Amino acid sequence: MSAYPTVRMLIGSEWIETGGEGAMPIINPASEKEIGRAPKASKEQLDAALAAAGEAFPKWSGTPAIERFRIIRKAADLLRERAKTIARVMTLEMGKPHAQALAETRGSADLIDFLAEEAKRQGGRLVPVRSHNLLEQRVTQEPVGPAILFTPWNFPINLPAKKIAGALSAGCSTILKPAETTPATTQMLAECFVDAGLPEGVLNIVYGDPAMISEHLIASDITRKVSFTGSTAVGRQLGALAAQGLKRYTSELGGHAPVVIGESADFDRTVAACAATKFRNAGQVCVSPTRFLVARGVYDKFVTEFAARSQKLKIGDASVDDSVEMGPLAHGGRISAMQDLMASLGGPEGEIVSGGAALDGPGHFFPPTVVASPSPSSRLMTEEPFGPVAGIVPYDTIEEAVEIANSLRYGLAAYAFTGSLDESHYLGNSLRAGMIAINHFAVGSPETPFGGIGDSGFGSESGVEGYLGYTETKLVTVAKSAP
Ligand code: NAD
Repeated sequence: MSAYPTVRMLIGSEWIETGGEGAMPIINPASEKEIGRAPKASKEQLDAALAAAGEAFPKWSGTPAIERFRIIRKAADLLRERAKTIARVMTLEMGKPHAQALAETRGSADLIDFLAEEAKRQGGRLVPVRSHNLLEQRVTQEPVGPAILFTPWNFPINLPAKKIAGALSAGCSTILKPAETTPATTQMLAECFVDAGLPEGVLNIVYGDPAMISEHLIASDITRKVSFTGSTAVGRQLGALAAQGLKRYTSELGGHAPVVIGESADFDRTVAACAATKFRNAGQVCVSPTRFLVARGVYDKFVTEFAARSQKLKIGDASVDDSVEMGPLAHGGRISAMQDLMASLGGPEGEIVSGGAALDGPGHFFPPTVVASPSPSSRLMTEEPFGPVAGIVPYDTIEEAVEIANSLRYGLAAYAFTGSLDESHYLGNSLRAGMIAINHFAVGSPETPFGGIGDSGFGSESGVEGYLGYTETKLVTVAKSAP
């Protein structure tokens, strides 16, 4: 068992253990035992963080890009060095199996590397002039200003890493509010930046009551950008707050990803990839495949094989057993959400083939659950489950599969498996989502944009877009003389 660190807020250059609003318990979801406490920020502490970010912004944005690059790049190296320790704390806080926690931490270092490099690469452009009197038209991307970052618990290193590295690389100062359930993991990421030499006030961290914190920070005149990852409902609320002050806003929200499985797909590889990916992080992944649309000719075989594979997964407390393949859900609220969803099943809502009921405690364990033939209008097929539940429905024509896939307002990720080039082309063109992967599930690499459309939010993180999201466009046009 790893030691759990003391959770502290970072305001300016000070690490603060005492919250003006008291403290909140941190619970290991596998044992339901308290493992630590996190301070809850008061409005005065939030004001101090705002002042620190406001003061740091002109200095950090004026720092030569190459120096920003060196500091951010060094943070990535420190993250790699500390990955094993950080992954252990992540498992304690949210139950993620060790191999997945380690892969997330190491992968995030690569992501930080890429975004650090953007500081050196982004130089703006010159635009040809329209008259002899004009000398130059220069378009540059300027850092937008202090950015407020809100991140959830399901990827407590990867999601903050994208936001912090994109913002710092562009020259913004930041205040981060990590999820209440996983503060220490995210704090350990922040320590990499501080130890890499990040100047005082450029990165601040606060914890506490999410609604109070978001309202207070977003309303401040110091704040120029808001970036949120989490549910569609909260994303909408924060978008409204940002719009009130005409502040730039990026939202990475929920999804309900369809997977179209054609008859020509390589069956064995496809079903293996689907079962492994569906239950990664106990299904608590915004791009998790959740709506399996399977060609009728292979439907029965797919349901049987998928359910058999899902039942073989080893479930348990990953903080004491490295061979665990699926951990608990993040908190008791997720168990209630799964039980609620199960109560809605039966008849046209779908039949439970395997799983379906929470495991006896202690711990928030819910088994891999497979539901056959839910109607496209059922709760399971229309509301994001955000847990280890898969709905599988048959389709007769590829056009029908696309119609079901595109029938929701969500549009984060969509997947398809097919052996036909024509079908692959058709699906790539007609599926409606921010990210589409055909014959694989990997939509999150450092170099490519990650983001959704519709109720899944707007704006992208990672890739060049992950840098540009923290900038605004400026035109400088110069004439030889007054006209
Ligand atoms: P929740 O809404 O209680 O919390 C989700 C996250 O949102 C937490 O980190 C919380 O701190 C934050 N949050 C909540 N209210 C906030 C506010 N007013 N201001 C700022 N931040 C706020 O839900 P939950 O039960 O913990 O998680 C399930 C829901 O969250 C699902 O709808 C799921 O889609 C969504 N979620 C999405 C992602 C993602 O990666 N897109 C990650 C985690 C959770």
